[in-house]
Amino acid sequence: MLEVRNIWKSYEGQPLLCGVSFRVQAGETVCLLGPSGSGKSTLLRIIAGLEAPEQGQVLWEGKDLAGVAVHQRRFGLMFQDYALFPHRTVAENVAFGLRMQGLPRTEIARRVAEALARVNLHDFAHRRVTDLSGGEQQRVALARALAPRPRLLMLDEPLGALDRALREQLSEFLRRLLHESGIPTIYVTHDQEEAFAIADRLILLHEGQVVQDGPPDAVYARPATPWVARFLGLTN
Ligand code: ATP
Ligand code: MG
Repeated sequence: MLEVRNIWKSYEGQPLLCGVSFRVQAGETVCLLGPSGSGKSTLLRIIAGLEAPEQGQVLWEGKDLAGVAVHQRRFGLMFQDYALFPHRTVAENVAFGLRMQGLPRTEIARRVAEALARVNLHDFAHRRVTDLSGGEQQRVALARALAPRPRLLMLDEPLGALDRALREQLSEFLRRLLHESGIPTIYVTHDQEEAFAIADRLILLHEGQVVQDGPPDAVYARPATPWVARFLGLTN
């Protein structure tokens, strides 16, 4: 399905991603883990087509996506800070990607309702984003990513801005939603517990490279480097 092949990226002469490669298969949830500043959000922006790598390719079913526009990739990205339009309604926010696809109005309305139902926000369509709680905004952002029926979903710290109680409540909800949707997902977090609960596979990013890629059990049983063991809290 998705293949990220030998991606290189630097900012102001500082190398950030140094030959990152991995794959995501059908229906799989892959958790991308790494410390703050390790380039996780940058990698998602490159996959989404919002930024170009200096070297390397993003492929979908073997086809290189270089030059394929963001909305034509049909990848859903939920940003770390949600990036909602604050003064617009919930429905207008969710409709954003659908307008980009040029769908007719009746189809847009149908898909907005469907996406809001999926995140349990049926009655919120006409509310303003500024009047919503953090957890409600999180679900609007998720609905906006889901509405265009993406073939790949990327969630950047989807629970990062929420308090502990809400994180626990929503992580179970999210796990079920991802499982039911069957959409392959890249899920960025630096919370190991969350990753362990949600992931079919873990990918660990350190100093610009994938240092380990495998099922959670295998990664915990056999961390590839001392850094991985420390990062997962297995050693001091
Ligand atoms: P976090 O866990 O804190 O969200 P991250 O792994 O998502 O971190 P990135 O946001 O990808 O990290 O940023 C990685 C590094 O690249 C940071 O040092 C950041 O300051 C730098 N960076 C990101 N985007 C730009 C940019 N447009 N111009 C210059 N530097 C940038
Ligand atoms: Mg980030």
